[in-house]
Amino acid sequence: SLLLAERLSTVKPSPSMAAKVRVDALRAAGRRIIDFTIGEPDFPTPAHIVEAGALALAQGHTRYTASAGTPALRNAIAAKLARENGFVVPPSQVVVGCGAKHIIYNAFAATLNEGDEVIVPAPYWVSYPDMVAINGGKPVIVTAGADAGFKMSAQALAAAITPRTRWVVLNTPNNPTGAVYSRSELEALCEVLRAHPHVWLLTDEIYEHFVYGGARHVAPLDVAPDLATRTLVVNGLSKTYAFTGWRIGFGAGPKPLIDAITLLLSQSTSCACSASQAAAVAALEGPQQCVSDAVVRFAERRDRIVAGLNAIDDFSCTAPDGAFYVFPSVAGLLGRRTPAGDVLNNDVDVMRYLLEHVGVATIDGASYGLPSHLRLSFATSLEEIDAGCLAIANAVKDCT
Ligand code: PLP
Repeated sequence: SLLLAERLSTVKPSPSMAAKVRVDALRAAGRRIIDFTIGEPDFPTPAHIVEAGALALAQGHTRYTASAGTPALRNAIAAKLARENGFVVPPSQVVVGCGAKHIIYNAFAATLNEGDEVIVPAPYWVSYPDMVAINGGKPVIVTAGADAGFKMSAQALAAAITPRTRWVVLNTPNNPTGAVYSRSELEALCEVLRAHPHVWLLTDEIYEHFVYGGARHVAPLDVAPDLATRTLVVNGLSKTYAFTGWRIGFGAGPKPLIDAITLLLSQSTSCACSASQAAAVAALEGPQQCVSDAVVRFAERRDRIVAGLNAIDDFSCTAPDGAFYVFPSVAGLLGRRTPAGDVLNNDVDVMRYLLEHVGVATIDGASYGLPSHLRLSFATSLEEIDAGCLAIANAVKDCT
């Protein structure tokens, strides 16, 4: 018999990975699929960054580095945090991991005891609750719907805090909704945290550069620098520099926490990839034009997909302030019948119907903690966005 740990029974596979399997299977069967499930920029890593990685390899940077990361990268990250986020932190309080995900996972592994609670606002990035559960913690989900701009209120946060609460996770700009917390919203949340000194803040700012219209990214530590003694800032290069496959993310925070995360890294991965770390230094210290160019392209795609989806009966889509996802409600479609005679009972049915009937791949909102919605990524071309919205409109028309 297979020897699996009991705690594995609470862990679900990532729905975006499951969506990829569905898309690949249909494509292998010869179907043309328009894919709105992608969680990464669709352009290549900028050339000057790739060259820095290649040069590092050619120059022999092919060995283990320090577990917390190379001094050059930790310095570059500390400089970035001061420059872009107003967070002044010494490099010794920065740890580099194989992606932001790796840092979050190890932060929970380093701090959670059995039954400790972690407040996760929904809709959430799918990995938070599972990473909490794997590490013996209990995710406490606080749901905020479209009427609340998909943002947790200070009152809701206060009501969710118990003596067992260890962390509250904030993700702004948010995956899957694109919600961006304003300065005053963050001030209110931080005021609640001030009243509960045992609660730590994990702020995931991986989409910080992708904000549109008048929206601005505000770092929680910018409004509440006094919380730095119990905040872990998590960020990475994956989204900003189209750098997902290089696997570099980082955490910055109080020294004992950073040291504990580093200890776990030293006993698990040893260190992040040496050449990727060199490329990351080039990304952070080099020209930033590639980032503003990406934002311009994403802003155009955002407008296009929001207009396209809102033109469809029974779809209702607010324009996201950030990230590269839209999270439309499909509540208006529920109860209708497909040409095959099936009733669309929930968002999972709608997701399956769109995939099977018109070859459009999306992800159900239930996977992100809020049913009756779909998540569509607009990290894809304008042509695919147009074709996809048209196909969805046709699929909706075919329902009775
Ligand atoms: N945080 C959020 C909100 C994300 O959406 C993702 C990726 O999808 C990550 C973290 C992880 O990024 P990485 O591990 O590539 O740095």
